[in-house]
Amino acid sequence: MARYTDPVCKRCRREQQKLYLKGSRCYSPKCPIDREMPAPGMHGHRKGKMSEYGIRLREKQKLKFFYGVLERQFRRYFVVASRSAENTGEQLLTVLERRLDNVIHRLGFAPSRAAARQLVAHGHIVLNGYKCDIPSLLVKPNDVIKVKGRPNSLQLVKLFLQETHKEPVPDFLEVIPGENPEGRMSRMPSRSDVDPRIADIREQLIIEIATR
Ligand code: SF4
Repeated sequence: MARYTDPVCKRCRREQQKLYLKGSRCYSPKCPIDREMPAPGMHGHRKGKMSEYGIRLREKQKLKFFYGVLERQFRRYFVVASRSAENTGEQLLTVLERRLDNVIHRLGFAPSRAAARQLVAHGHIVLNGYKCDIPSLLVKPNDVIKVKGRPNSLQLVKLFLQETHKEPVPDFLEVIPGENPEGRMSRMPSRSDVDPRIADIREQLIIEIATR
């Protein structure tokens, strides 16, 4: 399975915007965006006028980086979204919001989507009573996400739950705290439920480049 292996902060520097890919570090003064580091590469400091195509491409890349998906998977989500009778751009965002790694991060069980992805891939997560190790799985309403009862799984998630920098849990998800915390998707997410840190994304521009 292909995966991105370059330094992740480079992605934020490329977009010149915080994409919150590293958990608590993103809120610390060490963040390169707060330190106003230029875009990567020899000409990163140059600020030229971007072409119409470039604007659309950067918007698409920003969305992919934020949710940690590569081009092939993104194409697949676009096909799913375009089959819907609803607005394709909004559907694309809600499909990404339903990814299991995203849901775990937004429940507060992991400090970042990458950490959530690792939690799932390492078998710490149980979906509707069955072990699930597929981070890209799309969660449905009434699905219940639990942490495996093993002491090391619980300890890991409890550590993450104590993180100081956490976004509020969105309305479409519920957290049932306790010895073995669990989460539930109460309804399908909508455009207004999209992570507020990427809510300013212009999905129409992404659709324009994806349909070229
Ligand atoms: Fe790195 Fe996080 Fe800052 Fe992005 S927001 S540059 S991932 S520290």
